[in-house]
Amino acid sequence: MKSVVAKNIAIKITTEVGSYLGSAQLNVCTKAEAAKKGLLWLAACWGGALCAVPIPLVHFVAVPIGVLAGPIVGYVIFRMHHHATDLSALVGNCPSCQKSLLLGTRAANWPVPFQCPACQAHGTVTIASDGPRL
Ligand SMILES: [Zn+2]
Repeated sequence: MKSVVAKNIAIKITTEVGSYLGSAQLNVCTKAEAAKKGLLWLAACWGGALCAVPIPLVHFVAVPIGVLAGPIVGYVIFRMHHHATDLSALVGNCPSCQKSLLLGTRAANWPVPFQCPACQAHGTVTIASDGPRL
């Protein structure tokens, strides 16, 4: 089972000067991958609690906190990652300076804000309704 589903999409890069079309990869975290991340945090909290058992006085506080926090933190991490989408492999040009945009992977909360590394122009990336024109 794939942990992350990747899909190529057409995007629209917009600044105050105008807009360009490009393409990007949309990565969607699956339920299995989100559960894996949640369980890792649960294990980390319980592992921390287990390590605190032999420490005098500290174990009175750290063990109950670690045991109780494990499921809570694990669930919060699971909810954060379940169906979380991020944008990567962005191909397109900055409408302000026409240089190619090299943006790192970022959360796909539409519209995705960006700042051009070359000309410092602020803009947004949105899903284009038609295909990329490169
Ligand atoms: Zn630019």
